[in-house]
Amino acid sequence: MDLLLAWERGLDQSPARRALALLGACSPDIASDKLAALPVGARDARLLRLRESLFGDSIAAVSRCPECGEKLDVAFNVDDVLDAPPEAIDKVIGDPGIQAHHLNAGDYDVTYRLPTSADLIAVSLLPDDSASQQALLQRCVIGVQQSGVSTTIDMLPDTVITALSNDMANADPHAQIELALNCPACDHAWHSLFDIASFLWSEIHAWAQRILHEVHTLARAYGWRELDILTMSPTRRQIYLDLAQS
Ligand SMILES: [Zn+2]
Repeated sequence: MDLLLAWERGLDQSPARRALALLGACSPDIASDKLAALPVGARDARLLRLRESLFGDSIAAVSRCPECGEKLDVAFNVDDVLDAPPEAIDKVIGDPGIQAHHLNAGDYDVTYRLPTSADLIAVSLLPDDSASQQALLQRCVIGVQQSGVSTTIDMLPDTVITALSNDMANADPHAQIELALNCPACDHAWHSLFDIASFLWSEIHAWAQRILHEVHTLARAYGWRELDILTMSPTRRQIYLDLAQS
């Protein structure tokens, strides 16, 4: 029920809010601001475990070869991309303190924290990716020094910005889930990013539409209320569906 409500509310929301809504619906004992304060990698680790509990651990996705355009079926397990056990994932939520990271690149020393869901939501309304990326760095960079003298993030050269983005990704395991792919048609090898937030959302979307269709069928056949049908066990619901359609 909570998941269905989260799906309904998420229909006109940004991907970052949808991801948070799904986690919130399935973690009612955790305050929403705590979930929003999780680094993106920790959020995605929770989403992967949530996906495992809802739909099982094997994931089938589709990719396309960037060289020849061949469509590729990609199959893997949650544990192939998630090396953290549930206890380690839960531990992050109990430790909400901001952890500072440091990057030294040339003359520059940058202190930053990892982006969170709250950051992604805050920058999601900006007009384009470049503006969002810049605003995200502004939020997450705590301090910048050039040769020991304090300066601002606007003064950072592009090479340091790139190094900073890479360092952030490396410091946040699971924030970027990469799949090593190989094209069977042209033998091209590449790495593809797997976005668990949008993948799980599309699965929940399909699930919600299936459930609502079942409610529609049973309500029409038997006159039952939506709540009664939704709270029925899946086994009994399926038996009544078979009877109604026979
Ligand atoms: Zn190819």
